[in-house]
Amino acid sequence: DQPLLSVRDLKKHFPIKGGILGRTQAMVQAVDGVSFDVRAGETLGIVGESGCGKSTTAKLLIGLVDRDEGDIELGGKSLGRDISLRALRRDIQMVFQDSYASLNPRMTILDSIAFGARVQGLDDPVGRARRLMARVGLDPDRFAGRYPHELSGGQRQRINIARALVMSPKVVVLDEAVSALDKSVEAQVLNLLSDLRAEFGLTYIFISHDLNVVRYISDRILVMYLGEVVELAPVDMIWAEQAHPYTRSLFSAMPSMDPDNRTQKPPLTGDPPNPIDPPPGCRFHTRCAFAADVCKARHPVLGPMVQGSPHWVACHLHDPASGHPRAGQGVPA
Ligand code: SF4
Ligand code: MG
Repeated sequence: DQPLLSVRDLKKHFPIKGGILGRTQAMVQAVDGVSFDVRAGETLGIVGESGCGKSTTAKLLIGLVDRDEGDIELGGKSLGRDISLRALRRDIQMVFQDSYASLNPRMTILDSIAFGARVQGLDDPVGRARRLMARVGLDPDRFAGRYPHELSGGQRQRINIARALVMSPKVVVLDEAVSALDKSVEAQVLNLLSDLRAEFGLTYIFISHDLNVVRYISDRILVMYLGEVVELAPVDMIWAEQAHPYTRSLFSAMPSMDPDNRTQKPPLTGDPPNPIDPPPGCRFHTRCAFAADVCKARHPVLGPMVQGSPHWVACHLHDPASGHPRAGQGVPA
């Protein structure tokens, strides 16, 4: 069956000023050849360190920034650059981390939610907005006339979710959408998001630095490093085996949920390399404990661990033909 969303070889390079007097222009390879599919009703979690390109990927999906190369298909139709931004933005909605910055401080809650529906010419924007307010847990009779500054962070994030849903989207991209909330509020909003996904038949792309949150809500996890996808797998599979050395480091740095096992393993050493001039071959080789000569010379291609497996990885350790001394043996324990 066909994926709902299909992303192919997405690229976005940002020019930045550098050099003496800022005269030379360098390009930051924010997103460099990212491909993935998302099935209808699925949640795809995207993880990686800050600067890995996950937020840029999100912005490319909703058309907030324009891609340099690649294609995005929704329901088999290409969202070409010529397509009106409005149509694109209605089907794919986004919820950001900063609940306050995404709301107009001078608009009432009700107007903020109804606004998008009004712009799109949808039926009964106010009725829609009131029903969604009730659905996200904010009584419209009490909250409709209030302003963003009168609400808590959790309430504002509920409003932002309602603002996304008022457009009847197919896909909702959530970029660190619960990261600013207290743990108890975070759990409530996550539960709300899961309920809404089932109720409205939504498909989520859930971006977060918090692996436990991503595990809770996602069906599959995509791991990015320096603008590239290095691993992609169903949640249970990646939890059982982190096939890419980078993914293994990320998971090792995560505080354990088990109170008897709070020993934190050594986190990743060193900073990510400069994205203006990423290392040749495997971009992770400057930080990888298993780097061999072939890793500096050849770029590993993302592919299934074994033929037909939904667990994909881009690392020479897993390719018997790569020429890596440990090729085909996977990541040592
Ligand atoms: Fe490490 Fe080489 Fe695998 Fe890259 S390809 S992650 S450097 S072993
Ligand atoms: Mg980000």
